[in-house]
Amino acid sequence: MPQNVAIVPHTHWDREWYSPFQTFRLRLVRLLDDLLPMLEADESYAHFHLDGQTAVVDDYLEVRPDAEAAIRSLAEAGRIAVGPWMILMDEFMVSGETMLRNLQLGLAAAGRLGGTSEVGYLPDMFGHIAQMPQMLQLAGIDHAVVWRGVPAAVEQTAFRWIAPDGSSVRAEFLAGSYSNGRDMPRDAPSLIARARDYNASLGRARLGDLLFMNGTDHQLPQPWLGSVVADANAIQDEYRFTVTSLAEYLTTQPSDGLFEWTGELRSGARSNLLMGVASNRVDVHRLCASAERSIERRAEPLQALLIPANRYPGALLDIAWRKLVLNSAHDSSCACSADEVVEQVRVRYAEARQIGDGLARERCTPWHRQSTRPRVDDRRQPDGARPWRAGRSDRTRVGSGPLRGVRRHAEAGPGRFGERRRGMVHRCERRRLLLGSRPGERDRVRR
Ligand SMILES: [Zn+2]
Repeated sequence: MPQNVAIVPHTHWDREWYSPFQTFRLRLVRLLDDLLPMLEADESYAHFHLDGQTAVVDDYLEVRPDAEAAIRSLAEAGRIAVGPWMILMDEFMVSGETMLRNLQLGLAAAGRLGGTSEVGYLPDMFGHIAQMPQMLQLAGIDHAVVWRGVPAAVEQTAFRWIAPDGSSVRAEFLAGSYSNGRDMPRDAPSLIARARDYNASLGRARLGDLLFMNGTDHQLPQPWLGSVVADANAIQDEYRFTVTSLAEYLTTQPSDGLFEWTGELRSGARSNLLMGVASNRVDVHRLCASAERSIERRAEPLQALLIPANRYPGALLDIAWRKLVLNSAHDSSCACSADEVVEQVRVRYAEARQIGDGLARERCTPWHRQSTRPRVDDRRQPDGARPWRAGRSDRTRVGSGPLRGVRRHAEAGPGRFGERRRGMVHRCERRRLLLGSRPGERDRVRR
């Protein structure tokens, strides 16, 4: 009986990182321009995994809107896997709500594109929160695929991952990372040797079949994959290679009696966890918290509570959420990117917060007006000018009429009273500062 070897072609697409988004997107467009016709023409290249995030498709379709039909057709046929995330986020730098919105947006986008990959693909996050199995189960997803953060206590390539509320998923541990099948050889004997070496390196850790993730960061597809797999299957019976999807692979793997792990996956035992990202570029982390709180805790609740549903500013909030979710990408929210990228991350956070602050202020203003009675002095403004700051302080009002000192200064004109004029201006400034203050203070300034 041959040992099954599943090969899942993919690319890990950091939307922005050591290069800015637009630079990476040029490469993404070239990749998908080549991939889509290749998939349509070559049945042996059976599948391509689009990194578990719909942002790669959105970013491509913005440039190639005519390709939507081809993508939908391939997704419906199971030839490409789309979603379930909108973006591969960091799980510790952003709020739980941002991750839920990420999943909701990803599921919706993947549904529009012809079908969602029902695999909680989490390949490169710098560790995982304890509630991730709960979050996945909320979306009806039974499988997670992880690499970083898996502790030494997990000794095989699969385990049951349990959240604090008792929800659980089957977790596939990508031994050797999401790049363990990168750079596959073009000749069958080398491919067979590659499988043999990997099998030996896993030893007793292998649970079920072998899984090769054929790709790595921004890697282009290897078009010879289908033919080399066919050649390898034709010349031996030790291994049976298939080009397949993660979903198909996982449904055939053992799921009973797995080692159980409850809580976070935050160990550096099996891979670099990059924990320094929690304390670098604190300015970005502060902007993130500020923007998330503005939207989550002020704008959305106040708008939901205080206006009728038909006036709910859903479109504006969608814009804000899209910016928050895009920024939650692990290289973006962790600010482990080039400075040019970080500048763009800062702008997205600023814009999301501006929308949140504006919408919250919109709902608070009526309360504010009701709680502030106009003063007698306000009604005396000759041109109806309003004080620039409503409030109870006597020191916060500024009138709109001309200042007597300024007029005298203007009438004096240039000449021998230069020194005196400077003194008048000085007094004028002091009076302006104190205009509207208590009469006694004003009189003292005049003296
Ligand atoms: Zn990454």
